[in-house]
Formats: sequence, C-alpha cells, structure tokens
Amino acid sequence: MSRTRTALLAALALIAASAGTAVAVVPSDTSLAAVPCTVDYKVQNQWDTGFTAAVTVTNNSAAKSSWAVKWSYAGNQKVTSGWNAKITQSGAAVTAANETYNATLGAGGSVSFGFNGTYSGSNAVPTAFTLDGVTCNVDSTDPTDPTDPTGPGTKVDNPYSGAKVYVNPEWSAKAAAEPGGSRVSNQPTGVWLDRIAAINGVSGGMGLRDHLDAALQQKGSNEEVVQLVIYDLPGRDCAALASNGELGPTEIDKYKSQFIDPIAAILSDSKYSSLRIVTTIEIDSLPNLVTNTGSRATATPQCDTMLANGNYVKGVGYALAKLGAIPNVYNYIDAGHHGWLGWDDNFAPSATLFHQAATSEGATVDDVQGFITNTANYSALKENNFTVNDTVGGTSVRQSKWVDWNRYVDEQSYAQAFRNQLVSAGFNSDIGMLIDTSRNGWGGTARPTGPGATTSVDTYVDGGRYDRRIHIGNWCNQSGAGLGERPQAAPAAGIDAYVWMKPPGESDGSSTAIANDEGKGFDRMCDPTYTGNARNGNNMSGALPNAPLSGHWFSAQFQQLMQNAYPPLG
Ligand code: BGC
Repeated sequence: MSRTRTALLAALALIAASAGTAVAVVPSDTSLAAVPCTVDYKVQNQWDTGFTAAVTVTNNSAAKSSWAVKWSYAGNQKVTSGWNAKITQSGAAVTAANETYNATLGAGGSVSFGFNGTYSGSNAVPTAFTLDGVTCNVDSTDPTDPTDPTGPGTKVDNPYSGAKVYVNPEWSAKAAAEPGGSRVSNQPTGVWLDRIAAINGVSGGMGLRDHLDAALQQKGSNEEVVQLVIYDLPGRDCAALASNGELGPTEIDKYKSQFIDPIAAILSDSKYSSLRIVTTIEIDSLPNLVTNTGSRATATPQCDTMLANGNYVKGVGYALAKLGAIPNVYNYIDAGHHGWLGWDDNFAPSATLFHQAATSEGATVDDVQGFITNTANYSALKENNFTVNDTVGGTSVRQSKWVDWNRYVDEQSYAQAFRNQLVSAGFNSDIGMLIDTSRNGWGGTARPTGPGATTSVDTYVDGGRYDRRIHIGNWCNQSGAGLGERPQAAPAAGIDAYVWMKPPGESDGSSTAIANDEGKGFDRMCDPTYTGNARNGNNMSGALPNAPLSGHWFSAQFQQLMQNAYPPLG
C-alpha cells in the first residue's frame, strides 16, 4: 500500500516538474484524497499490426451511476473491438463509456474493460486519462513484474523451479499398499477435480481444501507446488465414452457457477497464498475440436456439437480467466500429444484455437503459464533409435506405418516445437511446457536396445521404437507400458517440468460396461477384444483386460507400470 502511494506521489512530482510549473507536491494523505481517479492501462499482448489492452479505472471520489474514461493516442492506434465498455474513437481521441451492467462505480470502486486495436510503428501507452472530465493518475505498476511489490501478481517464470511438489496422500496410500509400491509412493501426482462433488470430496475422501491444507503441512518453509487437474467441461470427452462427465453439452452456466467459481473461491483464500498452485485445464477438450469434427473420418457427433455450441472454448476461457486472476495460480492448457496434434493439419490450427480460447470469456494470454502434453497418454518422451529426418533406402521414416507422415516421433521434440508455434500464435514468449511422464517409460524386456533392421522404413521404425503400442491412437490402459521419467523441474529447454499428472494405477476406462453414478460410459477402446475405429486406424485396442472404471484403482496395471518402468525402479 505505502509503496503505491510513494510511487504515485513521485509520478505527480514528475508531471509537475516536466510541466515546468512551480507546484509543491505535499506528501500527505490529504493530497492523495484529492486525487479523483487512477487509470491502469496495460498492453497485454502485441503482434505486428495489432494489440490487446486492458484498462482498470479506480474511482476515488463520490459514487457514480455512469462513467466515461477518455484518452488520446500519440500514434495511429485504432480500437477495433472492445468488451465491458462502449468504446468509440474520433481521430486520436478515445472514449470508453459504461455498459448498462457496469454503470455503477462506487467510491473507491474499480471497473475493468478491454479491447483489441491496430497500430503501426510504436504502440505507446497513453500518458493522460480523464474520468468524467477530471484528470486521473496513471498507475504504472506492473502486475506481471514479480519484482514490483505493488502489483497483485507474484508469479514466477517456472513454478517448479526450487519447489517441492505435493504428494497426494490418497494416491500415495494406494501405491504404498501394492507390493513394491513404496518405491514410488512418495512421488507427486495430480489431484483431479473431475466432478463438482470432488471439490468437497467424494465419499468421505479429501476435498480441495483438505489437499491444500495437507500441502501447507508438506510445504514447511520450502516452496511447494500443488498440481490440480480441472476436468468437468460440459459434454466432456466428446470423442470417447470412458470419461464422459456429469454435465450435458449445454450446461456451461453450471460449469461456471458450480465448478469453476467454487474452485476459484477456495484457491483465492489467503490461507493458501504461499502455495504455487498449478492448474491443468480440461484434458483432451480443445484437441478434440481440432481433430474429431467436421468432415474428418474421425469426427463424432458429440465433438461437432461442442464445436458448434462453443462451450469447450467458453469453458476453457472462463476457467483461465477466473483461475488466472489469482496471483499464485499457474494455468497450463492441455495440448494433446505428438501422436495427436503432431501432423501438419493439426499443429498450427490447434495453436490458433488455443489462442482463441485463451482470449475468450475475459481471459488473456497472461492467464496462461504454459501447456501440458501427453496427459494420461503413453507417447514416449524420446525415441533414441530413429529421428524424423532418417531415411531407409531413400524413403523417409515419415512414410512408415507407425509415423504416418507425422512431423514428430516423440513427446519432447513435439512439446518444444509446439511451444514455438504457440508463441507465434500470440502466447507470451516465456510460456513453459509440462510433459506427463507417468506412463510413457516403455521399459522392461520388450524395450529395443538399438535401431531396427534397415530392410524397410517399417522394420527400421518398428524394430527401434520404444513405444510398443499397436497404434499410436491407442489410449486406454496400454499393455506393456511402464512408469516414465520421475517428476523433475526444468529438465530441458522450454520444459517447466516432467510431471505425473495422471496418477499411475488409476484406470483409463473399464474393459466391460460397469454401472456407475459418475457419468462414465463404456468405451470399447478399453476392451482388449475390440478391433478399433477410425481414430486408431481400425487396430486392436491394446488395452489390458479386467479394468475398472476410469479413475478407479487398477492394481494389475500399477504392477505392470512398475515392472516396465524406464528409467527402471531401483
Ligand atoms: C477419469 C477421472 C480420473 C482421472 C485420473 C480420468 O480418466 O475420468 O475420473 O480422476 O482419469 O485418474
């Protein structure tokens, strides 16, 4: 508080001096009370020809029932579209007037609005603003600058750096109860908020506050990351059945008010402000809109519905905006995996769609810390026995059945390249990637020890690849999988962390139909006898038998994951 005032007075003194007038600025609260308003104008995102700005006005005089903020540009900026204010422009002069729903501006109250604009040359921030004709102070604190104590944000670039990560006691107990499980039961895993009831805890289990309280205990005097998965969109899991959720395709309002708002209320409790809370946002949702819609052979009616009604985009935007506004929350959006979005047809369009979602419902790119790839999937981290540039007898490995023209053959190269694509689509250049390595180890006796035979691209790739899946589109309880790299911070350029977001040992879906009250369906991709569909090239599912419902403990899978761990367990 006192810092703001000092900065403000210094700014006043500066204005006075540069105007050349002999005004004495008296550093007292009386002089501050005389300042009628403060305007904070921030360029949040800027590209060659355009920008997005956010403006917050604080009214320090009597309450108003309507308001108008004005400024002039020194350059050729033109406002093209705005939100939360009626914005008009005449020449360089801009007026932003209230909407009917935010007309009231109390004494000491603030209101925020935003807009997109075009510019060329420089995009200088205006230096003078009025509120209803009266000159305001300019707030020059920078909320994105962690060294600026007057800004609300104290986010660090990589929340995992120098921090411990929360071990979920419920998962840990299940892992420890398995023979040999104590070798991994102290690893951090994601806490999945997969239904409204999970916020308070399902059937006597831990709710969100219980986890955060336990995290404070684990934290001690260290930095502590808590990893949450936000997973309850309307019409969830539109290309599959195993993780269909509780909300129907149109229930976006319920998603906002009964899922995101209560989560945001808990996370913004000052009791938890010392935790670094990582939220991974809505697994599989936006990728499904890219690849499983429209005229594609892989399209499903459910994904077409979610594309048409916009509720995945709106839900993700709302979650980003609400959660991203909390200073110690770090949002990571789900970015599929290389065997999903690594093809040219999907790569750039996905980044564009993610940007659209991240600038909807009040969200901005500043609400996005980064992206997570491979969540709950099995794609190998690094394939060391071949690269995408290799050829066999003059034929590119991209023409092998396994690679099938993909640009990427493993997760790390995909995550790093996709990070660059996201930055060129408008995300901040300091975003970081997470890779879920919970089940992509592919060790054990079937792990190739060198490249495949150079008889053909297929023998070469199939003989050398660590990923032993029948087809890269297989996703349910994969037979032969192993635990992957143990969670660790900053393992490679552009990667914030390897994480175990999917808790190993929790099923991807039941192998036969099981009645339940979780909204979960039976997806035949979890049935080992299934011969497949367009999304796995009509191959066998590769799933383990006798699996329980998604999210439920699957002992046989956990045993196999430990057995095939790579790096191996000690
Ligand atoms: C399930 C969730 C579960 C999560 C983690 C998902 O497939 O749908 O209910 O919490 O996996 O195991």
